[in-house]
Amino acid sequence: MTIAIVGAGIAGAACAAQLQQSGRNVVVFDKGRVAGGRMSSKRAAAGYLDLGAQYFTARTKAFALQCQQWLDAGVVERWTGRIATYQQGQFTATPDDTVRFVGIPSMQAPVGQMLDEVTLHSRCLIERVQFNGTLWQLFDAIGCVGEFSQLVLAVPQQQAAQLLTAQHRIDADLTSIFGQAALLPCWAVDLQLATPLPLDFDGIFVKQDTEVSWLARQSIKSGRCAIEHWLLHFTPSWSEQHLEADKSQIVAAATSALQRISGHSCRVVTSQAHRWRYAQQAPDFGLFGALHRPQLALTLCGDWLNGGRVENAWLSGVQAAEAIML
Ligand code: FAD
Repeated sequence: MTIAIVGAGIAGAACAAQLQQSGRNVVVFDKGRVAGGRMSSKRAAAGYLDLGAQYFTARTKAFALQCQQWLDAGVVERWTGRIATYQQGQFTATPDDTVRFVGIPSMQAPVGQMLDEVTLHSRCLIERVQFNGTLWQLFDAIGCVGEFSQLVLAVPQQQAAQLLTAQHRIDADLTSIFGQAALLPCWAVDLQLATPLPLDFDGIFVKQDTEVSWLARQSIKSGRCAIEHWLLHFTPSWSEQHLEADKSQIVAAATSALQRISGHSCRVVTSQAHRWRYAQQAPDFGLFGALHRPQLALTLCGDWLNGGRVENAWLSGVQAAEAIML
């Protein structure tokens, strides 16, 4: 029988690739147009723009090996952006020996590569799941999309909770894990500028700022817009406070923050604002790896269960596959 995986972000893709390699039948569903989830780059006329994950690192041997395979396959490259911190009006260059990777030509590329051999139903929002004691049925807006022997939910916490709480089958453990928000929001804004900003840095960690947490020049990554584009991520608390704000308000705030931090006036030619409702892990949320419930033929994985970040999402997906294969 076939295993259904809901979510084609890096966790779902890693889980699917492992299961498929071990001879299992796998089908992946994702509501997005392409796989990638929060590792996504938006296609603009002059190239891609990264609005979600900016780069990723490999701190474990297993993920370092995976990154090497992606390098060999030409779907990632090392990002050598010049890094700085900005704090209380001062830029400080902070060169380090951290190896940072980016997908090329877009952040989705490594996720897409893992799903090369896997059946993926994109633009398919799973609205309801139902377990009859033996099989899982999955439903989209039109009706049942299939029956499966196992269900893997590789979606953010709040989306997993929505699907499962309707089932009334979750145990006290899961109820408590769903009870505390794992993922915090983030407004991301891309600004195309009429003239380059005279800053000697490509990635800037903004410290102790109530508005902005990260600034990056997009153009120095392969496949991205070659003209001057800057990306801003707002802090979780600012994003929470402005969650329902109009995009034009967010773009105005981003423009004024970029001017304030860079110390230069900016003429914005085009802009894009994207609201990530579930972006990065809350610092005090626990570490669970992946959650496997054999009696329910159910497994949950994703960054939110494993410390946030791309690497931890991948590790969670691999752990989910290993639990199913045991
Ligand atoms: P996701 O990527 O969220 O994948 C879940 C998938 O499930 C999505 O594709 C979604 O469409 C799909 N889905 C959800 N519900 C349903 C449903 N009901 N039916 C069908 N499909 C569904 N990490 C880093 O390591 N470095 C960074 O620099 C970095 N920066 C970040 C900046 C931002 C703004 C954001 C948002 C994240 C950043 N991260 C970063 C975190 C990183 O992107 C995530 O940890 C990782 O991509 C999560 O992968 P995932 O597979 O767990 O979840």
